[in-house]
Amino acid sequence: MQREVMIERQLKRRGIHDERVLAAMAKVPRAEFVSPEVREQAYEDRPLTIACGQTISQPYIVAYMLQAAELHPEGRVLEIGTGSGYQTALLAEIVREVISIERHVELSKSAEQRLTYLGYINVQLVIGDGTLGYLPRAPYDAILVSAAAPEAPRALLEQLALGGRMVLPIGNRDLQDLVLVRKEERGMSQIRLEGCAFVPLIGAAGFPE
Ligand code: SAM
Repeated sequence: MQREVMIERQLKRRGIHDERVLAAMAKVPRAEFVSPEVREQAYEDRPLTIACGQTISQPYIVAYMLQAAELHPEGRVLEIGTGSGYQTALLAEIVREVISIERHVELSKSAEQRLTYLGYINVQLVIGDGTLGYLPRAPYDAILVSAAAPEAPRALLEQLALGGRMVLPIGNRDLQDLVLVRKEERGMSQIRLEGCAFVPLIGAAGFPE
């Protein structure tokens, strides 16, 4: 019920129309990805705190990024910033293969437990610096970065397939623009989507710790 209200009020009314994204948001229980203390707030229109001082993003921004990435069922997607694993589960509902990188071991391990418990078998979790991407499974049809970067990391641009899309927040540590990058034969194109505020991407091609 709360999930249905979230979909109607927070997503459809604000322009989320991709049927695969809406179906995934209707299916994945966000409440399973937050701690028991904030479970009652799981379907509210805001980010929530998770372990390691990180956040599970606002449902609308997650849906917006998934829609902007123009995901195809046969696609292979790289996600940077596993966090709780919520967006990873949504991706796993939509595409064939998901690789998700997280720098905090604790977050990756608990995301793994949740994703296994919920039965996702098309997900590979990697612990490390996502600004370097994950070469063994490259190229990727889409890359979603759920932490704020000073600029698009070069390794991620290189690991994007031709025709691929990358959605990421670019800006400073406090405020960013959500940007859609496309890799085309004639080069990269970049368009600004909307303003946002993510936790920083920490790493070699991100911000210092
Ligand atoms: N999408 C996640 C979810 O559904 O719960 C929320 C992601 S949270 C906003 C951003 C995550 O990016 C944090 O868990 C943070 O530890 C992670 N992160 C930051 N820098 C990173 C890096 N260089 N590589 C991998 N993960 C990173």
